[in-house]
Amino acid sequence: MDKTAQITEHLLHFSPDALIVINERREICYVNETAVELFRYPASDLLGKALEVLIPERMHTRHADHVAAYMGNPTNREMGVRIADLTARRADGIEFPAGIRLSPFHVDDRKYVAAAVRDITESHQISQALVAAREEADRANRAKSRFLATASHDLRQPLQTIRLLNASMLKLTPDGEINALLAGQSEAIDGMARLLNGLLDISRLESGAIEPKQETVRIADLYANLRSEFEPLTRARGLTLEVELTRATLQTDRVLLRQLLENILGNAVKYTDAGSIKLRCLIKDDELLLEVADSGIGIPEDKIARIFDEYYQVDIHGERRAGVGLGLAIVREVARVLGFSIKITSQVGRGTQVQIRVPGTMLIADTANDALKDVEAPEPPKPGTLRPRLVLIEDNDGVRRAMELFLGLEGFDVVSGGAAADALRLLSNPRGDEILIVDFHLDANNTGLDVIRNVREKLQMMIPAVVASGDMPSVLRMLKEPILLCKFLGKPVDTSELLAAIQDLASANP
Ligand code: ADP
Repeated sequence: MDKTAQITEHLLHFSPDALIVINERREICYVNETAVELFRYPASDLLGKALEVLIPERMHTRHADHVAAYMGNPTNREMGVRIADLTARRADGIEFPAGIRLSPFHVDDRKYVAAAVRDITESHQISQALVAAREEADRANRAKSRFLATASHDLRQPLQTIRLLNASMLKLTPDGEINALLAGQSEAIDGMARLLNGLLDISRLESGAIEPKQETVRIADLYANLRSEFEPLTRARGLTLEVELTRATLQTDRVLLRQLLENILGNAVKYTDAGSIKLRCLIKDDELLLEVADSGIGIPEDKIARIFDEYYQVDIHGERRAGVGLGLAIVREVARVLGFSIKITSQVGRGTQVQIRVPGTMLIADTANDALKDVEAPEPPKPGTLRPRLVLIEDNDGVRRAMELFLGLEGFDVVSGGAAADALRLLSNPRGDEILIVDFHLDANNTGLDVIRNVREKLQMMIPAVVASGDMPSVLRMLKEPILLCKFLGKPVDTSELLAAIQDLASANP
């Protein structure tokens, strides 16, 4: 034997894999040393035996089919491709998971298959442990998200009651020390409401419970809505809000995109003391850029990467603004769900630009020529003077009593009930200027929207309505079409927003 042949033979015999060759009749015609060691049979006990001797009995049929199929067409698989993880059996009956690679060959027109077999017990155990750990982590994460969602949802009812009672007490104590204490309490309540909303949003997004819708969204409309929402805030802080006209139209989820921009705009207002906030829309290369630029305090460069983390707040000059550090974590999650990316550039003392980058594939060709027409600034709201009769449907007793007290103190005539069915009874003798205020989640089978629909249908009157819900994003995504003369408020309802909604609806009521 020459040297090369000797080396080859040695390699073959002591290769790290057990090597077995079988013929067309599935008889073993070669085994190497490693195979002898692995299966603990002397070579003489294996040669000429059916391959099944190495396989647990319960798997014989399956295995025979497998081999027959392979023998029938052995070339349809790449040589050396691992075809399966099987269970093998040693002479002492002990079974082990085996990784097997097959490779067919011919000698004198006869078919053979060489199999390289390896005991994969260890990697098997590791991957099983990994799968288990992964499942456990997923389970824990889902449990955390569920807990957060439930907790923040259930905390809303008492918080709503506290907020309404606080507003009522403020009204009853026009000035003096107690009034100042109540005003402080009111700020704390606002902070807590923001925290709850943030927690609920982030847990819902992280748990994957949100499936984005694909809708046609005209940026001009969205910007007009954002302008009405933010104009009063910017005006109150002495800032100007500039909204660029645009014709861009996107295929995306309207509610989520709005939430994204609201968070970014909210920050721009919060962290800007003078100057302006600009909402722009640019098309660059193959992307659409929705940009919020402010002239505010800016973010130090080394902090930019961290501001998307939950609860992270840059604390320039030890100054903290009303916030809980969840806004940008929500932005990050919403952008992920929608397939956008976010870019922030900033200069301390000069301002910040946040860009939402939308891939060109989500852009829709510009067809509407009138897209620019309704971006005019909305009229500032008229001071509240109308006193419609209010019909309140709220199933939580605490919230209902507090709401009645608050609205009564504001000078409204209020009637209330705890069940969907009460609405018609309360409206049996309508004055004509009624407004419905309904909780979204009512008795098991009814929502606030059912109440509105039912009342409008039965009375043949377009009664305006306010719907309050602790889970507004879900309510808004459930809506198939807009409901006329209807306003949606997130719970815990902000009392001034509630009064503004009532005024708006009362003045729009035909
Ligand atoms: P917060 O509730 O504190 O606003 P965010 O997650 O929205 O939480 O933002 C994280 C931090 O990033 C903020 O605390 C603030 O320090 C910084 N930041 C965000 N937006 C701006 C901005 N437009 N200008 C300056 N700083 C900002």
